[in-house]
Amino acid sequence: SIAVTGTSGHLGSLIVEALAAKVSPDTIVALARNVPRAETRLPAGTAIRPADYDIPDSLNSALNDVATLVLVSGSEVGNRVRQHRSVIDAAVRAGVTRVVYTSLLNADTATANPLAGEHLATEDYLRASGLQFTILRNGWYTENFLGSAQQAVATGEFSGSAGSGRVASASRADYALAAATVAAEPGHEGSIYSLGGDVSWNYDGLAVMISEISGRHVTYRDLSPKEHSDALVALGGLDEATAAFIVAVDGAIKAGELDTDSNDLAVLIGRATTPPAQTLADLLSADE
Ligand code: NDP
Repeated sequence: SIAVTGTSGHLGSLIVEALAAKVSPDTIVALARNVPRAETRLPAGTAIRPADYDIPDSLNSALNDVATLVLVSGSEVGNRVRQHRSVIDAAVRAGVTRVVYTSLLNADTATANPLAGEHLATEDYLRASGLQFTILRNGWYTENFLGSAQQAVATGEFSGSAGSGRVASASRADYALAAATVAAEPGHEGSIYSLGGDVSWNYDGLAVMISEISGRHVTYRDLSPKEHSDALVALGGLDEATAAFIVAVDGAIKAGELDTDSNDLAVLIGRATTPPAQTLADLLSADE
């Protein structure tokens, strides 16, 4: 069977949904730390097993009879190398054949992205495990920019410190379909895919998209990293560490680390990636 972790979350649940359209539903196993939360997100009747990256015993039973494991990277930044290693170790013990891992776009070259190190360390560990692997280096979700869009619609502007750095974003559903595709099909063993949207944009372009969607003319205000951090703390009420993280991610965007001209995502999903304006329009209208 094919197991997917993180199915109480956004991406993992979308992967299960996409898999259900490709393989017999009784071969899909949804793994979740929080089983009740997964139940609310997954199609009725989905087999759900408890699996906590921090509890190796839970992983042993969760991976019983699993041939292909989609390891959705965890959400606890700083703990993830240990957690992902623990899942890979359990996969080896359980006799899993292949692990599909959701990594980060440009994980091997990024120097500004604060998330790259954990993903690259996980990739290295997976490659050294002896398991077959497929690595999906996911770019940014368009959904990440809903907050900026809401701020812009409410105030006429949004701010950041990414300059004119470009982002090749795609929808979570696009990345989920790619993960389901490589998990369900043979032929992706040993492959590393760079996944991003067909079209890249910068924050000025995002402002144009938001203006067109909302009917309100909005602009992007580019700040220095220090100004950006101060604004997030003073106006946004964020703590210093969270603000520093957001500023660092904008630094990665500025450095081009979340951009790609790879068309791997469109090729894997067999269609164009979802235009960011469409994803944002859907989110903003759901928000009304
Ligand atoms: P979510 O926060 O919606 O989901 C994260 C999932 O990871 C949840 O199901 C969560 O379970 C699970 N998880 C976290 N820690 C553990 C653990 N110790 N054991 C088992 N499961 C655990 O994120 P998304 O679905 O949107 O994104 C998936 C992953 O992609 C993120 O976890 C992160 O690594 C990465 N990401 C990528 C972004 C991008 O733009 N490319 C943006 C943000 C994150 P629980 O419900 O129990 O917390």
